[in-house]
Amino acid sequence: MACSRREFLKIAGISGLGLCLPFATGLIEVATSSSTAANPALKARRWAMAVNISRCKAECADCITACHLEHNVPVFADAKDSIRWISSRPYPVVFPGVTQPRPAGEAKPLMLPVLCNHCDNPPCVRVCPTGATFKRADGITMMDYHRCIGCRFCMAACPYGSRSMNYRDPRPFISKLNPAYPPRTTGVVEKCNFCEERLARGMLPACVTACRQKALVFGDIKDADSEIRRALNAGFSLRRRPELGTDPQIHYIL
Ligand code: SF4
Repeated sequence: MACSRREFLKIAGISGLGLCLPFATGLIEVATSSSTAANPALKARRWAMAVNISRCKAECADCITACHLEHNVPVFADAKDSIRWISSRPYPVVFPGVTQPRPAGEAKPLMLPVLCNHCDNPPCVRVCPTGATFKRADGITMMDYHRCIGCRFCMAACPYGSRSMNYRDPRPFISKLNPAYPPRTTGVVEKCNFCEERLARGMLPACVTACRQKALVFGDIKDADSEIRRALNAGFSLRRRPELGTDPQIHYIL
């Protein structure tokens, strides 16, 4: 809703900004609900995710669908405009030069979910000139959409292609608006946030909850008793391009 400065000040006084800033209101609701919700916020010393490759099914898109609905990710007809928080990629693309583990006789490459690695040493954070992307103490690489100036330095710095730029206004292309999460605007970069807004309300990330194969494990990697720590201790896992020194925190269990 457009309003003049005079109307804005008048309405702000009456309604606490509710009419002029619907999506800011959404953020306030999220913040309020996190502090009053029955479920306390989930906390960790270091959040991380593991993908159990043997459980992940190529034909399944549960995680992608859930994530993109949760975060109002638009669906564009033209692939060059597409916004991706999670996507599915063939094994040779995710792990170039690393032999694919596959059952004998299996010819097709595995398809793996890829998302922001929430690196311990994120180059995207180092190059951002405005502080729009920053690291939280619990390891989540965050985006402040209001600070993003669309310079795309972070996209150039990320070696995993984990970030997307809104070259067009995404709002008309959101299939079903989730009022609890703010849609973005033209000229803003976005990416996976480990569902920090759900963690604040005591819920696991949407992708983890939606995965019917139970292929995604999320938790505190610094907690020796956590499910993710136990899963990683039990076998062999890979991370994407660890030789770059980014210290990625998405682990692929073979
Ligand atoms: Fe940054 Fe890319 Fe690492 Fe995510 S995967 S923290 S966007 S460098």
